[in-house]
Amino acid sequence: MRIAAGGFEHETNTFSNILVTEETVKAIQLEGDALIQSCRGVRSTMAGLLDECEALGIELVPMPRVDILPCGVTEKAVYESFRDHFVEELWKAHCQEPLDAIALNIHGAAVAEGYPDLEADFLSALRDRIGMDIPIGLVLDLHGNITQEMMDLSNITVAFKEYPHTDTYESSRLLIQLLHQQYTTGKTLYQALVRLPWHIAPAFGVTLSGAAGDVKEYNAKLVAENPVLRDISFFHGFPYADVPLAGASVTAVAETRQAAEEFAQRAAEYAWSRRHDFAVKTNTAEAAMELASKSEAPVVINETSDNPGGGAPGDGTHLLREMIRRNLPGSAYGHIYDPEVVQQAIAAGVGGRIDCEVGAKLDDLHGTPVALKGAYVKTISDGTYIRKNPMGAGGIANLGPSVLLQAGNVSIVVTSARRQTLDDGPFRMVGIDWQDMKILALKSSQHFKGWWTGRAKTIVACDSPGIHCADLTTFDYKHLDTDSFPFTEREDINL
Ligand SMILES: [Zn+2]
Repeated sequence: MRIAAGGFEHETNTFSNILVTEETVKAIQLEGDALIQSCRGVRSTMAGLLDECEALGIELVPMPRVDILPCGVTEKAVYESFRDHFVEELWKAHCQEPLDAIALNIHGAAVAEGYPDLEADFLSALRDRIGMDIPIGLVLDLHGNITQEMMDLSNITVAFKEYPHTDTYESSRLLIQLLHQQYTTGKTLYQALVRLPWHIAPAFGVTLSGAAGDVKEYNAKLVAENPVLRDISFFHGFPYADVPLAGASVTAVAETRQAAEEFAQRAAEYAWSRRHDFAVKTNTAEAAMELASKSEAPVVINETSDNPGGGAPGDGTHLLREMIRRNLPGSAYGHIYDPEVVQQAIAAGVGGRIDCEVGAKLDDLHGTPVALKGAYVKTISDGTYIRKNPMGAGGIANLGPSVLLQAGNVSIVVTSARRQTLDDGPFRMVGIDWQDMKILALKSSQHFKGWWTGRAKTIVACDSPGIHCADLTTFDYKHLDTDSFPFTEREDINL
């Protein structure tokens, strides 16, 4: 069996002013042997596809692939160029020796200029070239906005079930198993989709506990108890993509069309019945610091509203400003994006002192720059470390040139790359042992919990103003369907 694998992976926050340009794509595009080598020893989505193919004796044919950090839309010509190149490479591979299936590692919430449903367009371009006979499998992010067009153009859809996404690797393996099973048995698998009039803020989506966790368990039980059913995926959707098709949904894969439809409906009804249970308490920066100061240490405060993992700039200052104002011993902020300040600190050198304005330079939606007087340059780092979070464990993270500044009692990690903090890496790389600290602030919504749960004694969510804010009613939506929960209350899911 021969499976081609690759894809365009991007979660698009249409409120971000950072565009995906030719430069962005060129810097990270992998194909051929370079793609294969990037998967070795890493627990990533792409590695799961490769490892399962190898385990089952399947030849994986590497196609072009990009995994772009969440931000604003992709420029039209940049997307079209990648798409056309991918289609060309796929056709070339198929002509050399026929392909038996295609596995696409894509997100589900990508938007390009002129392409509100990028994934559907991508699939459509593939089908135009290869026809409808070769099965296409999709491994998608739980935050994908899934449309019927995507389903009609593909055959088997599998999403991550966990948020934090600690099962990306296993989800990919499942997709390959299903494609393989279909190929070896000759029995077609069917899929169905139920879309829900519901938008879920990522701050409310953790599956380690609570309502989202119950939905995950409910679906897993359905699959375990019904052999006809091969997968149920509950997509939380991505409400920061302001497109008409955004929203939560459920997909099912089963041996018959009827079973797929029935189980998708059943799972959708259960999830919908729990919609009021998803929201959890979040705090302003002031309230978060107040709570942290009274809680058992070490406390982790996650600034969900400025999560670069969801397209926010990562240089917001609301929480940092409050942390500096309080100046509590053992406070650390890890990390804020500001390459200018990094360069200023490098120029001063270790042991030097700088006056600077840190953060809030990418837009005016995440606070104003924080003025630091005589901040001490404690450490200069190359910004690399090995990831420990199960999401991508073993891979190398690179935050670019980075520094540790000491401002009073507060240790501030300043970096040259926008990233959410998944584990203690950003602290470790500048010499901070997190266990020595009392309050650690970071930018992430849920993924950090994949490592910090069980280590931090207390976790406090901070939802200051920003483009990844949990309160969806604060957004000026132009396209997203707000005739939906939580904007309006609906009785049923059948629109
Ligand atoms: Zn996600």
